[in-house]
Amino acid sequence: MSLYQLEHLTRAYGRRIVLAIGQLEIEAGRMYALLGPNGAGKTTLLNLLAFLDEPSTGSLRFRGKAVGSDRAERLALRRQVVLVDQHPIMFSTSVAANIEFGLKIRKIDRTARQRAVQAALETVGLERYRAARAHELSGGETQRLALARALALAPTVLLCDEPTASVDTETEKEIQKALDNLVQGRTTIAIAHRLSTLRKADRLVVMDRGVVVEVGTHDELMARQ
Ligand code: ADP
Repeated sequence: MSLYQLEHLTRAYGRRIVLAIGQLEIEAGRMYALLGPNGAGKTTLLNLLAFLDEPSTGSLRFRGKAVGSDRAERLALRRQVVLVDQHPIMFSTSVAANIEFGLKIRKIDRTARQRAVQAALETVGLERYRAARAHELSGGETQRLALARALALAPTVLLCDEPTASVDTETEKEIQKALDNLVQGRTTIAIAHRLSTLRKADRLVVMDRGVVVEVGTHDELMARQ
């Protein structure tokens, strides 16, 4: 089943078209990796899929329904997706409070919130930092907190701009484990900077200068070389 359908979609800044997609379908439950050079339009596409931005022309459908400009409708759609940024911004409160925030906004009751926070902390291995201030975490721990925050929201779609900053091997493993948990059984679209992510993805979407150049599995794209 198609979760997203994009048709003749463009995004322009002034007169400059930075994204032009003839046709692209994102199937539910699969993992997609976006790749391409800087300026290819990967972030622009991710923001459109997160309903944070609107196309200049063309159509974007989600679960078969055209996504319009209605504010309330867009807000409701935004609750189904989570965008994990390269540089996550945390509140200066505790680690637990940062995870709980999104659940409060979604009006989840206290008991369910606490359960979700605990489970997310355990999944990313940050239980012992529960009461610590989020701003005191290391770079790698902050990335794991961002993943915990996303995990607790149990989104239908995970959109992710993979961090490029190098972390030590141990931290890398922890982050990878947290990410694997998050991706499990969820539609994921990630701007991929790591080879391991490209290998895991069900489909690679190769972009260049605002255009989707190729879509296929890792093996299919290799065979076309
Ligand atoms: P990528 O994520 O693949 O590096 P982006 O989607 O960030 O590419 O950018 C695509 C193009 O759109 C770039 O040329 C960039 O300069 C341009 N762009 C992105 N955001 C804006 C903006 N707010 N105003 C003008 N141009 C923008």
